[in-house]
Amino acid sequence: MNLILLGAPGAGKGTLASYLIEQMGVPSISTGNILREAIKNNTPLGQSAKEYMDAGKLVPDEVVIGMLKERIAKRDCKSGFILDGFPRTIPQAEALDEIAHIDCALSLEVADDVIEKRMTGRRVCLRCGATYHVEANPPRVKDVCDICGDKLVIRSDDQAEVVRHRLETYHEQTEPLKGYYEAQGKLKSIDGAQGITATEKFAVEALGL
Ligand code: AMP
Repeated sequence: MNLILLGAPGAGKGTLASYLIEQMGVPSISTGNILREAIKNNTPLGQSAKEYMDAGKLVPDEVVIGMLKERIAKRDCKSGFILDGFPRTIPQAEALDEIAHIDCALSLEVADDVIEKRMTGRRVCLRCGATYHVEANPPRVKDVCDICGDKLVIRSDDQAEVVRHRLETYHEQTEPLKGYYEAQGKLKSIDGAQGITATEKFAVEALGL
Protein backbone atom coordinates (compact mmCIF):
# COMPACT_ATOMS: atom_id res chain seq x y z
CA MET A 1 0.00 0.00 0.00
CA ASN A 2 1.17 3.53 -0.83
CA LEU A 3 0.01 5.69 2.04
CA ILE A 4 0.19 9.42 2.76
CA LEU A 5 -0.01 10.71 6.33
CA LEU A 6 -1.58 14.16 6.42
CA GLY A 7 -1.85 16.45 9.42
CA ALA A 8 -0.44 19.56 11.02
CA PRO A 9 3.17 19.65 12.22
CA GLY A 10 3.14 17.92 15.60
CA ALA A 11 -0.06 15.95 14.86
CA GLY A 12 1.86 12.70 15.38
CA LYS A 13 2.64 11.65 11.80
CA GLY A 14 6.22 10.61 12.61
CA THR A 15 5.21 8.58 15.66
CA LEU A 16 2.38 6.84 13.78
CA ALA A 17 4.70 6.20 10.82
CA SER A 18 7.19 4.33 13.07
CA TYR A 19 4.34 2.05 14.18
CA LEU A 20 2.95 1.51 10.68
CA ILE A 21 6.38 0.53 9.31
CA GLU A 22 6.09 -2.63 11.44
CA GLN A 23 2.41 -3.25 10.70
CA MET A 24 2.66 -2.74 6.94
CA GLY A 25 6.24 -3.90 6.33
CA VAL A 26 7.07 -0.90 4.14
CA PRO A 27 9.47 2.03 4.66
CA SER A 28 8.41 5.46 5.83
CA ILE A 29 9.79 8.52 4.08
CA SER A 30 9.94 11.78 6.01
CA THR A 31 10.96 14.74 3.84
CA GLY A 32 11.62 16.71 7.05
CA ASN A 33 14.11 14.05 8.21
CA ILE A 34 15.85 13.99 4.81
CA LEU A 35 16.19 17.79 4.92
CA ARG A 36 17.44 17.82 8.54
CA GLU A 37 20.04 15.19 7.65
CA ALA A 38 21.15 17.33 4.68
CA ILE A 39 21.52 20.36 6.97
CA LYS A 40 23.49 18.33 9.49
CA ASN A 41 25.86 17.16 6.73
CA ASN A 42 26.03 20.68 5.30
CA THR A 43 25.23 19.52 1.75
CA PRO A 44 24.12 21.99 -0.97
CA LEU A 45 20.52 20.77 -0.42
CA GLY A 46 20.85 21.45 3.32
CA GLN A 47 22.31 24.89 2.75
CA SER A 48 19.42 25.92 0.49
CA ALA A 49 16.74 24.45 2.82
CA LYS A 50 18.00 25.76 6.17
CA GLU A 51 16.71 29.34 6.04
CA TYR A 52 13.19 28.21 5.06
CA MET A 53 13.05 25.58 7.80
CA ASP A 54 14.38 27.86 10.53
CA ALA A 55 11.68 30.40 9.64
CA GLY A 56 8.89 27.78 9.67
CA LYS A 57 8.36 28.18 5.91
CA LEU A 58 8.02 25.46 3.29
CA VAL A 59 11.06 24.59 1.22
CA PRO A 60 10.31 25.35 -2.49
CA ASP A 61 8.30 22.69 -4.33
CA GLU A 62 10.93 21.99 -7.00
CA VAL A 63 13.52 21.14 -4.32
CA VAL A 64 11.37 18.70 -2.34
CA ILE A 65 9.71 17.14 -5.40
CA GLY A 66 13.11 16.24 -6.89
CA MET A 67 14.27 14.87 -3.55
CA LEU A 68 11.12 12.75 -3.11
CA LYS A 69 11.27 11.36 -6.66
CA GLU A 70 14.81 10.18 -6.03
CA ARG A 71 13.84 8.50 -2.76
CA ILE A 72 10.72 6.76 -4.10
CA ALA A 73 12.70 5.32 -7.01
CA LYS A 74 14.78 3.23 -4.58
CA ARG A 75 14.25 -0.51 -4.45
CA ASP A 76 12.81 -0.61 -0.89
CA CYS A 77 9.75 1.39 -2.03
CA LYS A 78 8.72 -1.15 -4.67
CA SER A 79 6.25 -2.95 -2.38
CA GLY A 80 4.84 0.24 -0.87
CA PHE A 81 5.70 3.26 1.27
CA ILE A 82 4.41 5.65 3.89
CA LEU A 83 4.88 9.37 3.25
CA ASP A 84 5.26 11.56 6.33
CA GLY A 85 5.34 15.29 5.52
CA PHE A 86 4.90 15.02 1.74
CA PRO A 87 2.94 16.31 -0.12
CA ARG A 88 2.46 19.67 1.61
CA THR A 89 1.11 21.68 -1.33
CA ILE A 90 -1.26 20.99 -4.24
CA PRO A 91 1.62 21.16 -6.81
CA GLN A 92 3.49 18.52 -4.75
CA ALA A 93 0.37 16.29 -4.74
CA GLU A 94 0.01 16.69 -8.52
CA ALA A 95 3.69 15.82 -9.04
CA LEU A 96 3.27 12.75 -6.82
CA ASP A 97 0.25 11.57 -8.83
CA GLU A 98 2.49 11.51 -11.90
CA ILE A 99 5.07 9.20 -10.36
CA ALA A 100 3.10 6.88 -8.05
CA HIS A 101 -0.37 5.51 -7.41
CA ILE A 102 -1.60 6.61 -3.99
CA ASP A 103 -4.02 4.26 -2.22
CA CYS A 104 -4.95 6.35 0.80
CA ALA A 105 -4.38 9.71 2.49
CA LEU A 106 -4.86 9.35 6.24
CA SER A 107 -5.40 12.65 8.02
CA LEU A 108 -4.59 13.02 11.73
CA GLU A 109 -6.94 15.61 13.22
CA VAL A 110 -5.55 17.57 16.19
CA ALA A 111 -6.56 21.09 17.33
CA ASP A 112 -3.94 23.86 17.18
CA ASP A 113 -3.80 24.48 20.95
CA VAL A 114 -3.06 20.79 21.61
CA ILE A 115 -0.31 20.91 18.98
CA GLU A 116 1.37 23.98 20.45
CA LYS A 117 1.58 22.19 23.81
CA ARG A 118 2.92 19.01 22.27
CA MET A 119 5.67 20.59 20.24
CA THR A 120 7.39 22.34 23.10
CA GLY A 121 7.95 18.89 24.70
CA ARG A 122 9.20 17.23 21.55
CA ARG A 123 12.76 15.85 21.39
CA VAL A 124 14.33 14.34 18.29
CA CYS A 125 17.34 12.26 17.40
CA LEU A 126 19.21 13.86 14.52
CA ARG A 127 21.12 10.68 13.79
CA CYS A 128 18.25 8.17 13.25
CA GLY A 129 15.20 10.46 13.10
CA ALA A 130 13.37 8.95 16.12
CA THR A 131 10.92 11.30 17.87
CA TYR A 132 10.07 11.43 21.59
CA HIS A 133 7.98 13.57 23.94
CA VAL A 134 9.13 14.40 27.45
CA GLU A 135 5.75 13.36 28.92
CA ALA A 136 3.78 11.29 26.41
CA ASN A 137 6.60 9.18 24.96
CA PRO A 138 9.85 9.69 26.92
CA PRO A 139 13.09 7.88 26.06
CA ARG A 140 14.31 5.29 28.60
CA VAL A 141 17.24 7.56 29.54
CA LYS A 142 16.64 11.33 29.59
CA ASP A 143 17.76 13.01 26.35
CA VAL A 144 19.29 9.81 24.94
CA CYS A 145 17.86 7.99 21.89
CA ASP A 146 16.55 4.47 22.69
CA ILE A 147 17.40 3.29 19.19
CA CYS A 148 20.89 4.58 18.44
CA GLY A 149 22.11 6.17 21.70
CA ASP A 150 22.69 9.63 20.19
CA LYS A 151 21.84 12.77 22.18
CA LEU A 152 18.26 14.06 21.76
CA VAL A 153 17.72 17.71 20.86
CA ILE A 154 14.91 20.26 20.54
CA ARG A 155 14.37 21.07 16.88
CA SER A 156 15.14 24.71 16.10
CA ASP A 157 11.75 24.99 14.38
CA ASP A 158 9.91 23.79 17.51
CA GLN A 159 10.31 27.22 19.19
CA ALA A 160 6.87 28.72 20.06
CA GLU A 161 7.01 31.58 17.52
CA VAL A 162 8.10 29.27 14.69
CA VAL A 163 5.47 26.67 15.67
CA ARG A 164 2.71 29.29 15.25
CA HIS A 165 4.05 30.20 11.85
CA ARG A 166 4.23 26.54 10.81
CA LEU A 167 0.59 26.06 11.84
CA GLU A 168 -0.44 29.06 9.71
CA THR A 169 1.49 27.61 6.79
CA TYR A 170 -0.25 24.27 7.36
CA HIS A 171 -3.75 25.78 7.28
CA GLU A 172 -3.00 27.89 4.21
CA GLN A 173 -1.01 25.50 2.04
CA THR A 174 -1.35 21.92 3.28
CA GLU A 175 -4.89 21.58 4.63
CA PRO A 176 -6.39 22.06 1.12
CA LEU A 177 -4.88 18.65 0.32
CA LYS A 178 -7.72 17.08 2.28
CA GLY A 179 -10.15 18.34 -0.38
CA TYR A 180 -7.76 17.16 -3.11
CA TYR A 181 -7.73 13.56 -1.82
CA GLU A 182 -11.40 13.59 -0.83
CA ALA A 183 -12.26 14.39 -4.45
CA GLN A 184 -10.26 11.28 -5.43
CA GLY A 185 -12.14 9.19 -2.81
CA LYS A 186 -8.88 8.49 -0.93
CA LEU A 187 -9.22 10.59 2.23
CA LYS A 188 -9.67 8.96 5.64
CA SER A 189 -9.63 11.08 8.82
CA ILE A 190 -8.93 9.94 12.37
CA ASP A 191 -8.78 11.67 15.75
CA GLY A 192 -5.11 12.20 16.61
CA ALA A 193 -5.66 13.88 19.98
CA GLN A 194 -6.44 10.81 22.15
CA GLY A 195 -2.87 9.59 22.75
CA ILE A 196 -0.49 7.35 20.85
CA THR A 197 -2.19 3.97 21.47
CA ALA A 198 -5.63 5.28 20.50
CA THR A 199 -4.25 6.89 17.33
CA GLU A 200 -2.59 3.61 16.35
CA LYS A 201 -5.86 1.74 16.91
CA PHE A 202 -7.87 4.26 14.86
CA ALA A 203 -5.29 4.04 12.06
CA VAL A 204 -5.36 0.21 11.97
CA GLU A 205 -9.18 0.30 11.78
CA ALA A 206 -9.26 3.02 9.11
CA LEU A 207 -6.68 1.23 6.96
CA GLY A 208 -8.18 -2.24 7.49
CA LEU A 209 -4.83 -3.70 8.65
P1 AMP B 1 8.55 18.13 9.29
O1 AMP B 1 9.63 17.38 9.97
O2 AMP B 1 7.75 17.28 8.34
O3 AMP B 1 7.66 18.90 10.24
O4 AMP B 1 9.28 19.23 8.36
C1 AMP B 1 10.10 20.24 8.92
C2 AMP B 1 10.31 21.36 7.90
O5 AMP B 1 10.92 20.81 6.71
C3 AMP B 1 9.04 22.04 7.40
O6 AMP B 1 8.60 23.07 8.28
C4 AMP B 1 9.51 22.58 6.06
O7 AMP B 1 10.31 23.75 6.22
C5 AMP B 1 10.41 21.47 5.56
N1 AMP B 1 9.65 20.46 4.78
C6 AMP B 1 9.46 19.15 5.08
N2 AMP B 1 8.73 18.54 4.15
C7 AMP B 1 8.42 19.47 3.23
C8 AMP B 1 7.66 19.48 2.03
N3 AMP B 1 7.04 18.37 1.60
N4 AMP B 1 7.56 20.65 1.34
C9 AMP B 1 8.19 21.77 1.76
N5 AMP B 1 8.89 21.84 2.89
C10 AMP B 1 9.02 20.71 3.62
